[in-house]
Amino acid sequence: MAKSLKAIQSIRGMTDLLPERSSAWSCMEKKIFDILTMYSFEEIRTPIVENTNLFQRSIGEITDIIEKEMYSFPDRNNELLSLRPEGTAGCVRAAIESGLLNTPRKFYYSGPMFRYEKPQKGRHRQFHQIGGEVFGYSSVNSDAELIIMNHRFWDSLGLLDNIKLIINNIGSSESREKYKAVLVEYLSDYKSSLNENDLSRLKSNPLRILDSKDRNIKSILKNAPCIVDYISTESVERQDKLLEILKTNKIGYEINSSLVRGLDYYNDTVFEWVSDDLGAQGTVCAGGRYDNLVEKLGGKSTPAVGFAIGLERLFLLLEVNNFSSLNVKKSPDICIIVSKEEFHQYAFTISEDVYNRFPILKISHDFSNSTIKSQFKRADKIGAKLVFIIGEEEVKQNSISVKNLRTGEQSKFYIDQSKDKFFDFLSKTI
Ligand code: ATP
Ligand code: MG
Repeated sequence: MAKSLKAIQSIRGMTDLLPERSSAWSCMEKKIFDILTMYSFEEIRTPIVENTNLFQRSIGEITDIIEKEMYSFPDRNNELLSLRPEGTAGCVRAAIESGLLNTPRKFYYSGPMFRYEKPQKGRHRQFHQIGGEVFGYSSVNSDAELIIMNHRFWDSLGLLDNIKLIINNIGSSESREKYKAVLVEYLSDYKSSLNENDLSRLKSNPLRILDSKDRNIKSILKNAPCIVDYISTESVERQDKLLEILKTNKIGYEINSSLVRGLDYYNDTVFEWVSDDLGAQGTVCAGGRYDNLVEKLGGKSTPAVGFAIGLERLFLLLEVNNFSSLNVKKSPDICIIVSKEEFHQYAFTISEDVYNRFPILKISHDFSNSTIKSQFKRADKIGAKLVFIIGEEEVKQNSISVKNLRTGEQSKFYIDQSKDKFFDFLSKTI
């Protein structure tokens, strides 16, 4: 006997989205895409693979993503490439390369991102984001519009009670340098309490320590100097105006002066939408202003602000709280069963006619050529409402027998003489 082959498995941290969940997932995405379109965002699709230096230059060398999370490899020509760990860098690269930034533009993207992280609930090695980027407006109104739009996403998904906005202003890179110096000075007194990782961050990227989840460090940070005392008057005014707009629009927020974000390119407004219902991985959406990135990537200086939603986490939140907001239609409306293999050709003419007239109906042909009884069983199992039965008589008469599985009623329609009656019946029944 031939030795059976070992099945190949998916890669750790990279999961399949199976049919039981995929239609709800698409419904979630569609609600977000529709709102992005309402707010005049245009879709942009960029490659999943980019030159590694694009990410090094944009995200910053001394960040978790670049230091330890990227999937990088030389191609056959020895160019160093990486799977994208986020969507902003590619979007900015494409916009510069195609000269799209001469006037203000709003783009959105969606798709898989890759980071070599420790897989756990809400944290994967391949995960999905929908993100939006606005180029060309330095006005804080543009920051506000993004947040108001995000709020509409959660509203449309019925999640307003399960998600809250955390906001901060991290000022300009100059004020951050000043702040970094005093933070390092403060934390230097606690060196013995810092772990190896944080000690090295103290040298390389001290602001990241503010993001620590460690209880001990959190308590040390309670009395640390605060970034608000180091940002410029303009930044303070921006923040005040933004908060005022949020208040006017009845969007609740919490100011958190430790919110710094993991990527290097942000300035002024940074925000996260977080939930208490997701355990340790509570951030569902994150964003902020990045006025220097376009120039840093070789474009002409262009202010920008953006956000990215982690779709796995948003979906988890929906599964916990409000799955019913996703109106998922799963079962087919109609099953077509035939008594003989050669009747499928006739069955196709019927189903194509029905599709033309009712493009939203779901039809499932049974190609099993098993007994009528077992085909009926399957139709029942998959939850079809109607069964079209095609046997010798139907083909001869150019007719169709229809059984309603909910009521048990059966009727026959003659396609030549009374197609309208047949369609009328379908529109009333389904
Ligand atoms: P975290 O602090 O949770 O690692 P991050 O700051 O690295 O997040 P961003 O780069 O801002 O995340 O990405 C935006 C969003 O994408 C996150 O808020 C989260 O919802 C999602 N996300 C990031 N990394 C992952 C991952 N490995 N698996 C699933 N979702 C992720
Ligand atoms: Mg991360």
